[in-house]
Amino acid sequence: MAELATGPTKSGRRASCVKREADSRSASWRALARGQASDERQGTRDDSLSFGLYVHVPVCRSKCRYCGFYSLPADRVDAPRLVDGLLLELDRCERTGFCTAYIGGGSPSSLPVNDLLRLVQQVRRRCLPAAEFTVECNPGQVDAGFLEGLRTAGVNRLSFGAQSFLARELELLGRGHSVEQIGAAVTAARRAGFENVGLDLIFAIPGSSPADWQASLDAAVALNIEHVSAYSLSFEPGTVFEAWRRAGRLAAVDEELDRAMYEWTIDRLERAGLRQYEISNFARPGFECRHNLGYWANRPYVGIGPAAASCLTLDIREGGRRITNDADIERYLAAVESGRPAPAQTQVVSPDDAVCETAVLNLRRRGGIDLAEFRRRTGLDPMRIFADPIERYRAMGLMEVTDRAVRLAGRALPVADTILCDFSALD
Ligand code: SF4
Repeated sequence: MAELATGPTKSGRRASCVKREADSRSASWRALARGQASDERQGTRDDSLSFGLYVHVPVCRSKCRYCGFYSLPADRVDAPRLVDGLLLELDRCERTGFCTAYIGGGSPSSLPVNDLLRLVQQVRRRCLPAAEFTVECNPGQVDAGFLEGLRTAGVNRLSFGAQSFLARELELLGRGHSVEQIGAAVTAARRAGFENVGLDLIFAIPGSSPADWQASLDAAVALNIEHVSAYSLSFEPGTVFEAWRRAGRLAAVDEELDRAMYEWTIDRLERAGLRQYEISNFARPGFECRHNLGYWANRPYVGIGPAAASCLTLDIREGGRRITNDADIERYLAAVESGRPAPAQTQVVSPDDAVCETAVLNLRRRGGIDLAEFRRRTGLDPMRIFADPIERYRAMGLMEVTDRAVRLAGRALPVADTILCDFSALD
């Protein structure tokens, strides 16, 4: 499970290559699509003009009971064929010079190591030298040789799906790994040379008490990792958890406790030096996930693989399009193997929608909307076009405004989704 479950969510990560956008409308669009800007910046860490690359590996050892993302159990997938298909789609993408790459899923660590390394090596070839390159791993599926292979192939960041440090919660979630394997995976990652390691955690697991969640957070902090993503459990349609809830076998944690757990998360992680930089994400300074920062800046990205998505809004003032590959491995492989584009849905993003999406995504960052950056990219003044919600929430103490930024106040974070709705359309 990915650390990014918000903004462009995992189901919203994308596919389809820039190549398909040959009918792009403006000179600036075409220049960016050819990768000129990013090619000139090789070796830098300024991601502001570059694309991110997301590769979706929709395979897991088994299905977790809470998971609503598209993935199939590994024993039902021909892994070498899937990786061949991903490489075919990647080959047809003309773009290179990605500033970040993220192989997620699913659990990419469910693939046989040689197949995963084939994928990693081809992705690495398309990245800038200073690119951040993350692979998601299940802590129960890695060992020293596996992690050394990833490090040698150019992966420089790992995200482990830990979720909980309580054995009974891991069992309830259906995670398929133990508490001990989380610590062992982080230790093995350090030995393999990884200096940037993150954990995904879930709070408000049914039956969880404040002490349970605090124990999980304490255990995560004790591992001295660089990054934590912490999300409240949601009951997704089609999951075992949702069926159990409807049948009365499982009850959601009540809202007050959910909120208390979230507030405790912020306090505990900040005290440990993991600064909150987005609603659900925390990092040591300098270890914020650059790939996800690209999503929250509303920068373009290319997605490869079944159910992956691409955001091709290159100039916010012109709008763009979002392309989402169909969530079906067989149809995906049949298409790419016969030289056709991956089956996908295309959504046109109007200029107004692109402006609003930028505001909503920016507000997820603790830094909020950078007024100068927003004006430069959209040609619009956020203080004018969002005057009503900004003034209303400022009066309620839920929004802070300086001469440089507009951001959610700390007390607004638990109700952020409600507030962000008011930035989703222009009057
Ligand atoms: S590991 Fe579990 S949570 Fe993550 S994508 Fe697979 S089934 Fe979903």
